[in-house]
Amino acid sequence: MSKLGIFGGTFNPIHLGHLRAAEEVREKFNLDKIIFVPSANPPIKDKELADAKHRYKMVRLATFKNRSFAISDIEYKKKNKSYSVNTLKELHRVYPDTTFYFILGIDAFIDMPNWWHPDKLVKLTDFIVISRPSFKFADLASSPYLDADRNALKRLDSGKIESHKTRLRSGRDIIMLRLTPLEISATLIRKRVRQGKSIKYLLPEEVESYIISNKLYKEQ
Ligand code: ATP
Ligand code: MG
Repeated sequence: MSKLGIFGGTFNPIHLGHLRAAEEVREKFNLDKIIFVPSANPPIKDKELADAKHRYKMVRLATFKNRSFAISDIEYKKKNKSYSVNTLKELHRVYPDTTFYFILGIDAFIDMPNWWHPDKLVKLTDFIVISRPSFKFADLASSPYLDADRNALKRLDSGKIESHKTRLRSGRDIIMLRLTPLEISATLIRKRVRQGKSIKYLLPEEVESYIISNKLYKEQ
């Protein structure tokens, strides 16, 4: 039975925060691969969001050298917004006999009630929720999907424990994991590009060059 991590995002652009997180999760849980799933273009154009084609290519540039990393075009090739529930169902069909771990940052897990049918998603997969600077595991206490052990969340936040595994109300597993904190966000990178500032060492060189040669994230 193989074990795959599914790491979705807009990746606008992909950066070292994402890549290091994927590497640490893969190593910690001995996953066979991490599959990056860049999102499709939303139906209403967001001017800060680079075209799905560019975001997909940047994820490919950032991941092709790592044999444990793969990229999926499941969402990218859709003309419209794609939903995690459908992505998971499709992945189950493509990879039978596989345990999936849906990887997401604390911020994304907190946002899940606003997604399309999160009630279905929590039944479809196990979760790995990763730390991210400026967000606390303690904030998961208000999540409708789990009965949190507040003490364990506190111990995670303070670094007394590195990981904590528990059950979601759906019966699926959720594992919370502390990572090397990297305070990098795509928002910060886009802002620096707009301001004409350096983005070196925040993301892979190939992605930096791609952004420059395709003039992404410049003020229109
Ligand atoms: P934006 O600022 O545009 O929202 P982002 O940096 O948050 O971009 P996303 O594509 O939104 O990147 O995030 C994809 C996933 O990666 C989310 O689950 C998010 O929580 C996680 N993530 C992003 N950056 C980090 C980081 N520095 N450390 C840990 N997790 C991260
Ligand atoms: Mg984000």
